[in-house]
Amino acid sequence: MVLNFEMEKLESELKRLKPKRVLVQLPEGIKQNAFEIKRKIEGMGIEAVFSGETCWGGCSISTQEAKDVGADLLVHFGHAQFIKSDFPILYIEVKDELDLKKILKKSLSFIKKYDTIGLSHSVQHKHDIDSVVKFYENAGKKIIISVKKGYAAYSGHVIGCEFGGLKSIADKVDAFVILGNNFHSMGACLAVEKPVILLDVYNDKVRSMEGVRDKIIRQRIVAIDKFKTASKVGVIIEAKPGQKFGSPSFVVDKLKKEGKEVILITMNELSPDKLMNFYDVDAFVELACPRIAIDDFARYSKPLITMKEALVAIGEKSMDDFLKEGVV
Ligand code: SF4
Repeated sequence: MVLNFEMEKLESELKRLKPKRVLVQLPEGIKQNAFEIKRKIEGMGIEAVFSGETCWGGCSISTQEAKDVGADLLVHFGHAQFIKSDFPILYIEVKDELDLKKILKKSLSFIKKYDTIGLSHSVQHKHDIDSVVKFYENAGKKIIISVKKGYAAYSGHVIGCEFGGLKSIADKVDAFVILGNNFHSMGACLAVEKPVILLDVYNDKVRSMEGVRDKIIRQRIVAIDKFKTASKVGVIIEAKPGQKFGSPSFVVDKLKKEGKEVILITMNELSPDKLMNFYDVDAFVELACPRIAIDDFARYSKPLITMKEALVAIGEKSMDDFLKEGVV
């Protein structure tokens, strides 16, 4: 795999924006390239400070950190724009340059019984989409690219918390193909009731997500049921500007009306270690990335549910509607 950091775009945008000092944010897998990026930026006479905080998605924009270190621009690598910000941000989308011929051929046996395929990709594969469509069309398939909705920056773009674009074409397709990784395909199978096939380009494997949806839904029902019996509840809000999934005051009021004692907790990043110290809290609602509660189910010893799930737990939403709308 060759990572293309769009250095030309970085250079031309820095020339245009003329910052004096930038804070650079790199996703975890790219932090190893910090020196290469530093040399490029500092070679232009611009001071670079690198954020050591985790950067899982376009939601993790460290604007406060940028202000704290006196930067006049935030350079965010690896993700597309997620939310608007009043602090200047330059997004540099990293391209994963891979030869997809082998994996595409392999995928044909997984989609042979489907005529119309919904196609979505993570942002690192936007540049591959035309050739992927052509390949499948040559193989006799009709391809519909997922629509740009919500947090998605482009049509076809899939993010772990945004599947509106897939939901809006679900009625028209027989199955979905996701070009990316397990994180995106798992979210997709929780969001749409159609077969989902993952082209796992990093492991050179094609995988059907069959069975994953049922397993996770069972886990979510267990978490919701346990949450219902909790009397002391922690409502967690994350400091990251893009991770605001629900209104804290709305949830707190609803939980109080249900007779629960509620404590509001703020965190920069949620982790089992941090929650463990709140010994006398029985269960948590997290208004941060919804995938934390879902994907890290086994890591938390106490029930941890999302905003949507809290609404089910307190009877504001029926389980049927929740499942119909999609868990993510
Ligand atoms: S909120 Fe979660 S799923 Fe959404 S972009 Fe951020 S890390 Fe990814």
